[in-house]
Amino acid sequence: MSLRFHNTLTRSVEPFVPLDAAGRTVKVYTCGPTVYNHAHIGNFRAYVFEDLLQRHLEYRGFGVHRVMNLTDVDDKTIRGAREKGVPLADFTAPFKAGFFEDLRALRIKPADQFPCATDPEHIARMVAMIEKLVADGHAYQNDDSSVYFRIGSFANYGQLAHLNLEELRPSGRISSDEYEKESVGDFALWKAHDADDGDVAWDSPWGRGRPGWHIECSAMATALLGDRLDIHCGGVDNIFPHHEAEIAQTECCTGQTFVNLWMHCAHLMVEGRKMAKSFGNFYTLRDLLDKGWTGREVRYVLLAAHYRLPLNFTFEGLAGARSALQRLDEWQQRLSELAATAKKSESHPLIAEDQFAAALDDDLNISAALGALFDLVRDSNRAMDHGEVSPEQARGLLDYWEQINSVLRLEPEAAAIPAEITALLEERTAARTAKDWAKSDTLRDTLLKHGWMVKDTKDGTKLTRAGG
Ligand code: AMP
Ligand code: ZN
Repeated sequence: MSLRFHNTLTRSVEPFVPLDAAGRTVKVYTCGPTVYNHAHIGNFRAYVFEDLLQRHLEYRGFGVHRVMNLTDVDDKTIRGAREKGVPLADFTAPFKAGFFEDLRALRIKPADQFPCATDPEHIARMVAMIEKLVADGHAYQNDDSSVYFRIGSFANYGQLAHLNLEELRPSGRISSDEYEKESVGDFALWKAHDADDGDVAWDSPWGRGRPGWHIECSAMATALLGDRLDIHCGGVDNIFPHHEAEIAQTECCTGQTFVNLWMHCAHLMVEGRKMAKSFGNFYTLRDLLDKGWTGREVRYVLLAAHYRLPLNFTFEGLAGARSALQRLDEWQQRLSELAATAKKSESHPLIAEDQFAAALDDDLNISAALGALFDLVRDSNRAMDHGEVSPEQARGLLDYWEQINSVLRLEPEAAAIPAEITALLEERTAARTAKDWAKSDTLRDTLLKHGWMVKDTKDGTKLTRAGG
């Protein structure tokens, strides 16, 4: 097994070498949402890709320490609060809550920490970092009272986005958080308060003001993960200027390489254009749930394309996800019914090799991984048609599916368990405790007639909806 990932910095696929080889804990920072609106499913493409990365690292035995920030102060959130005439925190609160609900619906594993840029300790750290940058000549306060990073002071500026500064001849200063490569220039670290900011301001050595977006991530990432990270992720639109700026600020403060591996996902597109709030061509998850699609179907669509390929969003794609999931559900149901009488789990020759995980080792090649899974579905269905799968092997196949599914998380929605089923299950547990195997088996069959599968595992008895 050797994990390989594409590094945006080198534009090549490289073997993955964790910073902490002995501890096997991988430090991952992922830029989170700007909470001025509900995240759209383009944003969730990035978070689903990061979820696949985390779950596959865990599948391969790594621990993952993951931080995702919430940008709750920047140009866009301030504008939104001003337009609505409410305090910034009141404006962002419902979008923060909505984001966590959407993560749950899409089965995205929550990060270990979700720092907010407006947390006082993070603002203090941003100010401290800027002070150091000013003291070391990497930043300066301009006539407009804002503080800017001097890009000419960092020899590697442009390395991530592969910019040639001499060709671009940077000039001037940029105070907005987002800008194109053509307008490269010194960027704002601290923005002096202006009337449009209302009461959004903090004290600093340079007067009242607020942080620029880029320094927020540098401060939160290093506060929670240390000066060096294994992996930093985002969508490709984050490469410039956001991540380029993060490298410059952080490395000028710490004197160390900030990130070993930069991973970026391609965009979710609609008719050839990036899905974006500013283009008005977006769907939120809520829009799709309201139309009758499920979180798991949306997850499948976002997961099933390789993260470095642009993915065109269509309703046909969602319908395709629905039928692929139905195929998986029917396969599991068939296996479950066959496995009902198995006393133990046995491997089947069809799963001699873990092709699914081997494909993901190769820069998260999900297309090959799903290809291997659907080949297994087809071949094991065929084997069942010919009576070539024993109950024990069916259980072995289900165990393998559970293993794979710890990465995919595509199981059917959990169904509510009716009271009479709970009562039958309790009766069966009592029978097992009393070693009354005949009664236990009869109750298992009764449960199956009611559409519920019972499985006894080393972690206890599990109940699942047969086929559902
Ligand atoms: P934002 O809320 O705009 O800061 O974006 C949050 C995350 O979503 C960032 O990592 C972006 O790169 C990513 N993102 C934004 N739009 C898209 C899209 N259409 N496809 C994929 N990722 C996106
Ligand atoms: Zn960021």
